[in-house]
Amino acid sequence: MQDGKNTNFSERKVLVVGLGVSGLWTARWLAGQKAVVTVSERRPEPDIDTEICGEILRLGITLETGGHRRQTFTNTDLIIVSPGVPDDIEPLRAAKNKGIPVIGELEFACRLIDTPVIAITGTNGKSTVTAFLGFLLENSGFDVFVGGNIGTPLMAYVQENKNADYIVAEISSFQLDTIDTFCPFISVVLNISPDHLDRYVDYEAYVQSKLRIFKNQGHGQYIVLNDDDRRLSAVKISSGPSLLRYGTGKKEGRHAFIENGRIVACLDGDNAYFSSDSFCLPGRHNLENLLPAVLVGRIIGVEPGVIQNTIDQFKGLPDRLERVAEKGGVAFYNDSKATNVDAAVRAIESFDRPLILLAGGRHKGADYGPLVRAARGRVEKAIFMGESKELFAASFDGVLPYYLAEDMEEAVSKAISWAVSGDVVLLAPACSSFDMFSDYSHRGRVFKAAVERSIRG
Ligand code: ADP
Repeated sequence: MQDGKNTNFSERKVLVVGLGVSGLWTARWLAGQKAVVTVSERRPEPDIDTEICGEILRLGITLETGGHRRQTFTNTDLIIVSPGVPDDIEPLRAAKNKGIPVIGELEFACRLIDTPVIAITGTNGKSTVTAFLGFLLENSGFDVFVGGNIGTPLMAYVQENKNADYIVAEISSFQLDTIDTFCPFISVVLNISPDHLDRYVDYEAYVQSKLRIFKNQGHGQYIVLNDDDRRLSAVKISSGPSLLRYGTGKKEGRHAFIENGRIVACLDGDNAYFSSDSFCLPGRHNLENLLPAVLVGRIIGVEPGVIQNTIDQFKGLPDRLERVAEKGGVAFYNDSKATNVDAAVRAIESFDRPLILLAGGRHKGADYGPLVRAARGRVEKAIFMGESKELFAASFDGVLPYYLAEDMEEAVSKAISWAVSGDVVLLAPACSSFDMFSDYSHRGRVFKAAVERSIRG
């Protein structure tokens, strides 16, 4: 086999790297195609769900655990990597040197899918915009599959033989690193700011990864870009796909913007107007997220009335500026998904009440300077926790009073002891959660439980 484009997998040797959710769906599908499948997983077997191990073995798949053997990688016809696997690990390099094709699950799935894909990437807002678009398309009567980085991998769509009108896919930079022919009908890039600097050689490499989303698009397809973003406004497309730009203010060449408090979306010279009066998500960034969503709706011909109803009804997602409780005039917000500096800055900027900020977690290489600047005059006091708490302390020293907490329980009770009526207690960590929690959603649940206990007790 020369590459992964041949769709007859019978008797072909395929290695799936990583037994996360996308690796599992890929392995399932390949086993059904009678491929000779091996799964290689870094975790030792006792750390993997026993039901999953059982299923893998029942499907006749060879399972290699506790690390990756070079020989497994160099003795196969095709390698499909999961997004969590860094692409510079030694056995992958050895396989590439031998000319073995290495692709990601997204690339593999898209070679097997005919459904038009609306692909959303960006540093922040992907899940929110993806969920909004899924809701919008459903409301307008389309059969839609929502997946990718947001939950269900596209290989699940393939495995279950689905035939939707559209796929709305949240796409991470890690997924874009391993595409080759992936070509969405509409691509959306929301913003680019420093993130994942622990995985990329530098910021430029991360930016270039994001821009790969539209590299294969051509005539009859659309690229939607945030014109307020410096890197995205500099993108030039001279021929091929239609480029639609949006930004919060009205400017020459923008297809969506906000004017006199209304959202304006202009397609083929025809303006449509939307109100955000009943939109319930806080923060300017969430208003910004509506602009590309409305443009996508217009591209695929959704009735303006349906777009307006969706704006009015969309409730957002948990862990993104989620209002948890209010007691004694103190409101508690869970923005556990603010796993980078820009998202935490946006969270801070979303309130016009004094803030008590809870931040910290696993450091990802970012500079906390922008957070310090956003906090001045808005954050009264801060509580830092997790592996990065000393880095936060160094950045905030002399700026505002702070406390270093051992865990979430202590952080919440300290915040409550400090808070007075009118304050907002905001969890916006600016860091990943993996130092103390299994993921951001676990961190959010622990925060919410600690708040509930404290305000009841
Ligand atoms: P992603 O899937 O890209 O991580 P989410 O919708 O899950 O995006 O939101 C992640 C974090 O980013 C949350 O804290 C959210 O409040 C914040 N956020 C959402 N949209 C934006 C935006 N346009 N710019 C900056 N931050 C945003």
